[in-house]
Amino acid sequence: MAKEFLARNQISFVEKDVSVDDQAQAELLKRNIRGVPTFFIGDDVVIGFDQRRILELVDHRVVECENCHTRLRVPIDKGSLKVTCPKCNNQFDFDYKP
Ligand SMILES: [Zn+2]
Repeated sequence: MAKEFLARNQISFVEKDVSVDDQAQAELLKRNIRGVPTFFIGDDVVIGFDQRRILELVDHRVVECENCHTRLRVPIDKGSLKVTCPKCNNQFDFDYKP
């Protein structure tokens, strides 16, 4: 479910299985984390599959071109910006509201 969510939002990730990855297991123990899944995003840690929190920490959103329905990654650290669809050149405004 988490993987599908990440893929849908075009968030690239590295999956580690603590049951077979000793290093990943040690990383969790070091931080005193017992719950899985755990998400490491930059310096932040999200314990459990908290979609809202994950999206807050990821620096882009996926938006869909209304014209051709291509899905695009748009950075959220730029505030309001004009997006041009690479496929059909449709221009639209993207305004990030946290
Ligand atoms: Zn388009």
